[in-house]
Amino acid sequence: MENNSRPPFHVWQRVVAIKNHSTGLFKKGDEYTVLDLIQCLCGKWSFYCGRNVRQGTGMDCRVCNKAINADFRMLFACDSFAPYNPPRHVEIAEDILKMAIVEERADVAPERVLND
Ligand SMILES: [Zn+2]
Repeated sequence: MENNSRPPFHVWQRVVAIKNHSTGLFKKGDEYTVLDLIQCLCGKWSFYCGRNVRQGTGMDCRVCNKAINADFRMLFACDSFAPYNPPRHVEIAEDILKMAIVEERADVAPERVLND
């Protein structure tokens, strides 16, 4: 049993679809932020993607067909997604770091104020 398995993602993690949804709710390459993580009794992990279904509709587990929620939240199977870590985020972070270093160098020593 994998019922006690740890979730594959964490809340606020950015993820990208690695396949198309069976009925077209998402496409391969679509990006989402994980807002909540829900485990089905069969062990399968899903996440709340921030989109909503009609209130009261809920979602069913793809593996066991049992309802995993009965509320408005649209839940996607975690195994259809992978962590999204684009290189450009790293580049932007490095640019920000460089700017911070330049600013630090531009800082002049604070003027001494004499009280005479
Ligand atoms: Zn299930």
